[in-house]
Amino acid sequence: MNLNPRLVQKWVTKATAPPAPHPGRPASDSWEAYLAAELLCTFCHQPMAHTEPQDSVQGYQCQTGCRPRPLDAAAIADTVGRALLRHAPRIIPPSGTPTPPHLAAIHAHRVLARITIGATPGDITLTWRAAPLPSSSVDTERAQAVATARHLALDDPLRARQLLHDSLTGIDPATAPAHPLYTDAAALLAELLLRLDHPSDAVAWATYAHYSSVQLHGPTHPRSLHALHLHAVAHRRAGHHQRAYRLYRELADQLTRLEGPHAHRTLATHASTALVLHALGHCQAARTLLADAITTHRRDHPDHPATARMVQHLSRIWRDCATKGHQHQDT
Ligand SMILES: [Zn+2]
Ligand SMILES: [Zn+2]
Repeated sequence: MNLNPRLVQKWVTKATAPPAPHPGRPASDSWEAYLAAELLCTFCHQPMAHTEPQDSVQGYQCQTGCRPRPLDAAAIADTVGRALLRHAPRIIPPSGTPTPPHLAAIHAHRVLARITIGATPGDITLTWRAAPLPSSSVDTERAQAVATARHLALDDPLRARQLLHDSLTGIDPATAPAHPLYTDAAALLAELLLRLDHPSDAVAWATYAHYSSVQLHGPTHPRSLHALHLHAVAHRRAGHHQRAYRLYRELADQLTRLEGPHAHRTLATHASTALVLHALGHCQAARTLLADAITTHRRDHPDHPATARMVQHLSRIWRDCATKGHQHQDT
């Protein structure tokens, strides 16, 4: 693929290296952090949201790219859980054995109005509610199922899917009102269904996650953008290219405003839009859009592996046009 050999060497080294230890990471992480309370960044004052897992580590990141890398979600849950066990032990249901901090953190939203995150997972300011919210055991159970599903998503996707279906029992994505837990579960389920190659099933949940996130958090919140992206991908993979095109355009507009026209995510969205354009039969528009994205991406993000993927897509489009005998003026 004409890739820089040094870059490939880097990937090989990374792929074959044993997983790096994560300093400050709690040893017991069989449960993923689930914090339903609002997380705010102390620097940019923007909400922080779950990022895609990297090296199977869940993180929190703010939307402006104000931090060089996401903060470890499990370490944040550990800090919050310790504070709850110390200052609000009565909200945690007794289980006979001491509750580990990351499980205590599941109840954070009942006593915390806000969690403000500083430079490290240990540097956290908690804003307490005047009175705790009443506990709902059904909600807690569903929240735990979603938390477990999030953790299992990579290793046991079928079990994770079952847990998410359970936690969404009785929820009709076409009519359900916006709800933070169901939005989270729906987005995760859509992601999983896409990975398991069931794009048609993913569409309904991605649609709900998208509209519900926008209603709960506003259209520029990281969760809403993530759900909009899932929504677009689900329609594209399901072959609804017209619908996918409109959603990718909406995402590109949002990202251009929030992160700038040359940001990685903006350009990656242009590249996906180009694939949809090609599927719709607009070959020349697709190639122009993709070639422009590649030029800018290579210039502004020189070491980013996505450039190579975009080039691969462009060659595939050229090959496809040649195979189908298209006579384009620029060929
Ligand atoms: Zn920030
Ligand atoms: Zn063509």
